[in-house]
This record gives sequence, C-alpha cells and structure tokens, in this order.
Amino acid sequence: MRNHLTIDLEDWFCVSNFDALIQRSSWASCDFRVADSTRRLLELFDRRGVKATFFVLGWVAERDPALIREVAEAGHEIACHGYGHERLTQIDAPRFDADLGRALTVLRGLVDAPVVGYRAPSFSLTERTLWAIPILRKHGIRWDSSVFPFGGHPEYGVARAPLSPYPLADDLVELPLSWKKPRTIFVNSMSDLFHQAIPVEFIQRVFDVMRRANWHQYQVLTKRSQRLLDLDACLNWQPHIWMGVSVETQDYQFRIDHLRQTRAHTKFLSLEPLLGPLPHLDLTRIDWVIVGGESGPGARPMKPAWVTEIRDQCQAAGVPFFFKQWGGVHKVKNGRELEGRTWDEMPCIGETTTSGAVHFRRKTRCDKRSRSREIVPVR
Ligand SMILES: [Zn+2]
Repeated sequence: MRNHLTIDLEDWFCVSNFDALIQRSSWASCDFRVADSTRRLLELFDRRGVKATFFVLGWVAERDPALIREVAEAGHEIACHGYGHERLTQIDAPRFDADLGRALTVLRGLVDAPVVGYRAPSFSLTERTLWAIPILRKHGIRWDSSVFPFGGHPEYGVARAPLSPYPLADDLVELPLSWKKPRTIFVNSMSDLFHQAIPVEFIQRVFDVMRRANWHQYQVLTKRSQRLLDLDACLNWQPHIWMGVSVETQDYQFRIDHLRQTRAHTKFLSLEPLLGPLPHLDLTRIDWVIVGGESGPGARPMKPAWVTEIRDQCQAAGVPFFFKQWGGVHKVKNGRELEGRTWDEMPCIGETTTSGAVHFRRKTRCDKRSRSREIVPVR
C-alpha cells in the first residue's frame, strides 16, 4: 500500500447497513452518486497535493470505468474492495473466489499499475474467515488491509490483533487499520441510526458496542427525533455517547424538545445546514450548539445575521457555540470566521465544579490533554 490515506470507493447503496433494504439486483436503478463525490475528492486531493489508495468496488468500476481510470491517472493507487460488497462472514469460499476474481478482472483491465491490494467489505476478514487468505494469494493479492484491530463490534474486528504490519501468509502482508487512540466518532455520519427501517435490536447493539469501546467519544446525530424519544427508555446511555438533533429551520425546532426529553448525558444541536433564522431557540439542558452553512454545488446561502443571533442566544444561555463553516460553493475560500475570529467552543469534559456541573471553558477549543472520559453535563 503506497498511502496512509485510504478511500473505499463504493456508492451509498452498496454499504452493508443497507443489505436488508436494497437488493443487489436493484443497485442499477439507484441514484448513482459516487462519481460526483469521488471527483470532488480528486479535486481536493489535487489542490492539497495528497495521494490516496482507493479500494474500488468491482461493481462500481464496471458501471463507471472512466471514473476509475481518472482516479488512477491522477496518480492514486487502485486496490480491490471485492465485486458485490459481499461480506466474507456471509458467503463461502467458492463464492468469495468468484467475487474476488470478477472484481480483479474488471480493475486489472482498467489500470496499468498492478492491482495487488485488497480490503474486505465491512472489514469482514476476521478469525471466522481466515479461509479467505489462500484465495487472496491465489489471485495475486500481495497486501491486505481488512483486519480491524478491535474486538467490540458484533460484525467485524479481531480483538488484540497487531497494530503494525504483519504477515498473513508468506507473501501476503496485513496492513491493519489503526484505531487505537481515543477519538471522536461520528456515528452514521452519512445515514440515520434512528431511521424507521433500522430495527431496535440493531440500534441497541450499536449502543452496546459504544458502551464497551468507551475510550472513544461518540457523537450520534439524528433527524428522527420522535423515534429517538420513543426508544429512549431502552437505550443504554453512557457519558461518552453524545446525542444530537439536526435543525435546519424553525419548522424543525420540535426536534430539540424531543432531544431534551431523552436521558442522553450530553445533548447537542447541529444547526447545519442552516437555512433560515432561529430567533427563539430553547437551549434549556442543551450542552452544545454547532452551526454551519450548506456547501457544494447549488449550496443555499446562510445569512451572517442568522449566525450571530444564534451565537448571542448561546452566550446568553451559557451554551458553548461552535461555528463550523460558512459553506457555499467554495467552502474553503469562505472559511469559518465570524466577526473576525473562529468559534470553537465545546463542552469541556472533566472540568466539574463543586455543584457537579461542567465548567465550560469559553472561547477556545478544550485542549485534548484536559479531557478525561468523565462527562458531566450542565443540568
Ligand atoms: Zn465498503
């Protein structure tokens, strides 16, 4: 693998989370979005002089060969993510053999550089699927990056797996994903955990994983606030699981009331993309407010007065205010300064006062060393 930065090149409907909802046979009729988003990435990488390794799904390569050639011609490395995003844990050896062979035929037909790297869909190379190793070797795979060195997930990961490269077989090296340092994890950043199609049992399992992997901090964001409230009683809330709702206009302020009624320890609002003024926010028992404008082609503009009005309400209520970005078509150019400065306030973790309430350090981002895992929000 030539690069530290890796991308799984697949479309939204290919992911394992949607397995039960979107049949493979209907992929062809789904809205094909990955070409646009990949080109946006290519542009960004080009501007910053960054190279990445792309794990390409064979199905996507077959659907849009020009896209894959573009990625390769821009100097990025092409590796394989299988053909149909079938998890090794769900299929047998002959089926994996066929899936991998098909994907490699497509990819090797498209790019000149040798395609010798592989990442299993949803990191499904685990202790249960080691039978895949000889098949990888048979197809000329020389390095693999599928083993998640983490034992807390019900579907993937190998507890206590090495964190640096190691041989899987004589001529096949594993380059594990690194994940050990505590970090903030946005849960379902591209989808919604509380979508009505997600079974309660699955949501509870996600909460259980978060509870066990308590060295990370999780930020769960939803638009389905009614379902969140309905399920609140059966969720195992922990201090390191932060819960937020999206509010884009006044029409959706009811989501804040739903959030407020839950037992989540730390509650935040994501006012992003902000599409209108929010002059009457009730910030009672809300611990953090994030504001951002829409970005990308066709982005709807955000008025500075809407942002300052929200900031003033946060200041009046003593709620940390984080201004993420102006957004717009040229998001980077528009920056993230409001009235001449950035606003990076966050709920400061671990600085508790004698009354048991968190002391929020204002105006600056809490420095990482000052954070402990104890989160005691203001009540
Ligand atoms: Zn994938």
